[in-house]
Amino acid sequence: MRTYSFIEGSCHNPIAKGSYESRLLKLRNTLDRADYVVIGAGAGLSAAAGITYGGERFTDNFADFIARYGLTDMYSSAFYPFETEEERWAYWARHILMNRHDMLATDLYRLLLHIVEEKDYFVITTNVDGQFEKSGVDGGRIFPVQGDYAYLQCARGCHDKLYYNENLVREMARQTKDCRIPSALVPRCPVCGGKMDVHVRKDGLFVQDSQWYASYKHYQDYMEKACDGNTLLLELGVGYNTPTIIRFPFERLAAQRRNITLARINKDYLGAQNRIANLVSFDENIGSILTDISKSNLY
Ligand SMILES: [Zn+2]
Repeated sequence: MRTYSFIEGSCHNPIAKGSYESRLLKLRNTLDRADYVVIGAGAGLSAAAGITYGGERFTDNFADFIARYGLTDMYSSAFYPFETEEERWAYWARHILMNRHDMLATDLYRLLLHIVEEKDYFVITTNVDGQFEKSGVDGGRIFPVQGDYAYLQCARGCHDKLYYNENLVREMARQTKDCRIPSALVPRCPVCGGKMDVHVRKDGLFVQDSQWYASYKHYQDYMEKACDGNTLLLELGVGYNTPTIIRFPFERLAAQRRNITLARINKDYLGAQNRIANLVSFDENIGSILTDISKSNLY
C-alpha cells in the first residue's frame, strides 16, 4: 500500500541489520536483563498463531456466505453492508465463535507467555480474540484497547455496559439457515431498544466501560515504572492499521530513553520513524524467533 511504503521510506532505521543469530542474542540478553517487559501485540501475532482471516480457514467455513454475498475474507466481511440484522448476526455469530469462543489458546501465544512468565510484564494489544487471557495472562496485566469479540454493546453506545455473548452467538449459529438467524434472536439494546454491535472499535461509538478505564490506568502506571527501569518493549505483528496505539508510542519511548530497548518483530513493516539506538528488529517468522528465544542453550 502506498501510504505504508511512504512511511517506510521516511524511516531513520534501515531494515533489520546483523545476522539472525546476533539479533537473537541481543534480544535474549535484553530480555534476561529487563526489569520490565511490555508486550505490544497486533494482528500479525494472531495471524502467525493460525488465526488467519483469509484462505481456507475462511473459504471452508463461510462457503454459504461467499456464494451469496461474494465475501472474500473475514476482515472485509466485518464491514459488509448486510441488508438485515438477521443476516448481519448470522455472519457475526460464526465469526465470533470461530475466532473467539471456539478457539483455544494457540501454541504461539502460550510460547510467548512461557518466555516472559518469570518476568514482570504487561500486555497491550489491539487484538480482540482473547488469546492472552486464554493463555493464562491475568486480566490485570492486559490492556485490550480495541475491545473483545466476546461482548456486545449498544450500537449507539447509549450506555457503557457490555454483554457477554457466548450463549447467544452459539444459539444464533445453531439456528442459522440460508445465511439468516431467526428474528427472535436479533439482539436489541435493553436501554434504548436500538441495534447492538460487537464490542470492537470501529468508530467513536465504541464503549469504554469502567473495566476498560481500569486497564488503561494499569497500563499507564506500568509504563511510568517501566520508564525508569531496564525495559524491553516487545512488539509483535503491529502494522499500520492503528499505529498510534502501540507502534508509534513504543518508537518514541525507545528513542527518548537509553534504558529502553525496542524489539520489533514484523515481517512487513520494520522501519521506524525515530532514530532508535536500542532497536533490534526481525522480519523472520514469529514462531521461529520465539522458539529459538525459548531455548535454554542459546548461548
Ligand atoms: Zn442503547
